[in-house]
Amino acid sequence: MVSRFLLSNDDGIHAPGLLALAEVLLEFGSVAIVAPDRERSASSHALTIGTPLRVNEVEFPLAVELAMSVNGTPADCVKLALEQLLPVPPVMVLSGINRGANLGVDVYYSGTVAAAMEGTFSGLPAVSFSLATHRSDADYAAGQPWIRRVLAALLQWPPLDRTLVNVNLPDLPAATIKGVRPTRLGYGRYREGFERRTDPRGRPYYWMKGELEILDRSPDTDLMAVEAGWISVTPIGLDRTDRATLAEFSRQLHIALPDERGETP
Ligand code: MN
Repeated sequence: MVSRFLLSNDDGIHAPGLLALAEVLLEFGSVAIVAPDRERSASSHALTIGTPLRVNEVEFPLAVELAMSVNGTPADCVKLALEQLLPVPPVMVLSGINRGANLGVDVYYSGTVAAAMEGTFSGLPAVSFSLATHRSDADYAAGQPWIRRVLAALLQWPPLDRTLVNVNLPDLPAATIKGVRPTRLGYGRYREGFERRTDPRGRPYYWMKGELEILDRSPDTDLMAVEAGWISVTPIGLDRTDRATLAEFSRQLHIALPDERGETP
């Protein structure tokens, strides 16, 4: 049986990164594409609940099984595909290749990661791919041989339960990429994230820009791996419980809780 992959993204169904990922996926099996009709980057896991979702078949330049655009978010696309549009469930949900890295705190803002995460919510293996560049002429083909290898490995793996795999590629020619490195989520923050300007009527407006400052420079993080020229592969679990704090609460919280009269001991 030929595998069926569900592919989505947050850059929109006409994005070149989606096409590059579809090309690789077709070597492994059939591909169904359900993606936003326009760019929805940084939409995180938002769902459309107050307006109808419209689905349109799209002419796609490759021999995919279906290609449909949705006037919704990446998460809408995957949820709708899994519950309504696909005749049978896919073996894997994929998202990307995104224009721009999704490293560290980016995974909380990212529509690319959320699309894959929606697959994880449904119990399916899911992988998101991002390329660490914002150039409009980004070369998505450079990472294709590496994506092929990562996918081959992940398809051999036992199904990933409640874990998505977040893959980030450095913006380098294939031959100069150092290899694939398993990483943990790094930590950085966007500083000076807004530029304040004045509109023609004299009122201020704000334009988000944001420079990422890496606050954890450990080499085992996704941020540092990509910066050093590696492909970063980070398993991200759905369970965000902090185990150390939970253990501490279990030991201590009842002691510190106020009693019925609101008094702390
Ligand atoms: Mn994007």
